Amino acid sequence: MNSKQKKLLTRIIISAIFFVPLYLISEEIVHVEMPKIALIILFLIPYLTVGYDILRKAFLGIKNGQVFDENFLMTIATIGAIVLGEYGEGVAVMLLYQVGELFQSYAVGKSRRNISELMDIRPDYANIEVDGQIEQVDPDEVEVGSIIVVKPGEKVPLDGVIVGGKSALNTSALTGESKPVDVEEGYTVLSGSINMTGVLQVRTTAEFEESTASKILDLVENAASRKSKSENFISKFARVYTPIVVYLALALAILPPLFIMVTKIGIGGYATTGAIWADWILRACTFLVISCPCAVVISIPLSFFAGIGGASNAGVLVKGSNYLETLSEVRVIAFDKTGTITKGNFEVTAIHHNPIEEKQLLEYAALAECHSSHPISLSLQKAYGNKLDPARVSDLQEISGHGIQAKVDGHDVAVGNEKMMKRVGVEARPCHHVGTIIHVALDGAYAGHIVISDELKPNAKEAMRQLKKAGIEKTVMLTGDAKAVAEKVAAEVGLTDFRAELLPADKVSAVEGLLKECTGSKRLAFVGDGINDAPVLSRADIGIAMGALGSDAAIEAADIVLMDDDPLKIAKAIKISRKCLRIVKQNITFALGVKILCLLLAAIGIANMWVAIIADVGVMILAVLNAIRCLFVKNL
Ligand code: ADP
Ligand code: MG
Repeated sequence: MNSKQKKLLTRIIISAIFFVPLYLISEEIVHVEMPKIALIILFLIPYLTVGYDILRKAFLGIKNGQVFDENFLMTIATIGAIVLGEYGEGVAVMLLYQVGELFQSYAVGKSRRNISELMDIRPDYANIEVDGQIEQVDPDEVEVGSIIVVKPGEKVPLDGVIVGGKSALNTSALTGESKPVDVEEGYTVLSGSINMTGVLQVRTTAEFEESTASKILDLVENAASRKSKSENFISKFARVYTPIVVYLALALAILPPLFIMVTKIGIGGYATTGAIWADWILRACTFLVISCPCAVVISIPLSFFAGIGGASNAGVLVKGSNYLETLSEVRVIAFDKTGTITKGNFEVTAIHHNPIEEKQLLEYAALAECHSSHPISLSLQKAYGNKLDPARVSDLQEISGHGIQAKVDGHDVAVGNEKMMKRVGVEARPCHHVGTIIHVALDGAYAGHIVISDELKPNAKEAMRQLKKAGIEKTVMLTGDAKAVAEKVAAEVGLTDFRAELLPADKVSAVEGLLKECTGSKRLAFVGDGINDAPVLSRADIGIAMGALGSDAAIEAADIVLMDDDPLKIAKAIKISRKCLRIVKQNITFALGVKILCLLLAAIGIANMWVAIIADVGVMILAVLNAIRCLFVKNL
């Protein structure tokens, strides 16, 4: 509890100590002879103790022209009650209202703290070595390229590359994956992971601001500013609802007693006309108490906030409440193949060469690919094995969906698929292997091809099964690879459909085609690894980048970022979003249901102010507790 909350609590307690005996006296449960005026003055002590700030805010609100806020409603209602002789109720309403306010501010503060605890990745210091001594400094002050020391049990403060030591890292705060990762010299480490066993020397590759931990915290903290439809609906609703109820209250205070007086109906039930007015005005005050939309207004942003926090704890970064909401409506998912469904580590399975040697063919291909970060390029370089001299390569041109053209040792080399061969006017020789065929042309003549094949990700099949179970109707793979490969992969993992041999632009039109099929509230998601699929990521209703930890481009382009490359996370993200939205809907229905019921009961005179305020505070407490459930979605 912070000092502000403690102060409010003290006021509530003092006020309650005064209130209880006074209430017993006023209800004549305890008999004490006292003039009425003395009782009223005594009641003002607990009333002002607990409510003076509400009265002040209401007054300031009126002065600034913002009439219809909760403070105004509470002020009018409680003063109304006191003036009408219901001192006890008037004070009690103010007291309970403050109890609700205290709980709400405590719960919101607590869940915010919870999220930062859950996301325990903000590093406090970095160790640097100065003259053989280890010194703790603010991570902000460490320059790129410095060597930092990370001891066992410490958080890695900045992104970098290990230059000494061996250890196991716990990356669960980043990826949600609790299995430790073994690392040694040459491995990349990301800030926010925890060093478990050995001392590591790390050469930093990013400043603190640009490091993974800072970026993730930034994303989560800013997510609340991208509002969902539900949140927008509620704030609009509150703006309309409160004045409506106030006018209804006014009508309730004036019309029925007027009607009764004019028609003289039911007069017998009342002692005097004054009593008629008092009765209906009191009902109107009850109306005002009920009209505070606090529970819904507070619980919905809180649900989303908690949901986003819970999701990031599970390794799913959601960039805004709106995306969480859209994700829950996804029924069609399009996937990229390489790096998303398959591992993207291509193994060379065969080399068919004609005029030149096998080794030579691979060398030309690897050299041409030496500047690209495409998974195929990396695999060819790895297959070649020897060191590549980039000075031998010039005039390099990467054509996405085709391959690469370059000059190697003065020869024209083209490496890529059949489209690439067509482009350079060389006839590609067909191959009997099923796999990704990388053709090589040398000085305008066909030189042979390299067959590479990729492996499915271990969880790909299970991921599709879970998606189907979660009600995803259509799973479509979009790939630039050959049809034979696509067909095989699609059948093995159990996709409902696939499109092959697509250029990046074709992928966009394929997604547009699929978007047309999504009728009603069905939404389409695209899942990719962020390598050359940024346009599709942004074209889909929702773009999901996977394995994107450390890849800026993907984090930029996507709406949701899966921190590791496990395809099971897709189903998990969907489940989290659905649970969150379910909780939001429960809260809306429950809170509004109780409100409407209370309004009806108050109008016909069954519910008094006690019922109204208890219902209000009770609903608020339940709704906030329900919202906090969104935090605990990791093990869905
Ligand atoms: P995916 O849709 O599987 O992500 P891409 O669109 O990146 O694939 O590439 C489609 C095809 O284009 C590849 O299967 C390959 O045949 C060819 N290709 C793309 N980039 C390269 C490259 N750097 N080297 C060789 N071939 C490439
Ligand atoms: Mg790709």
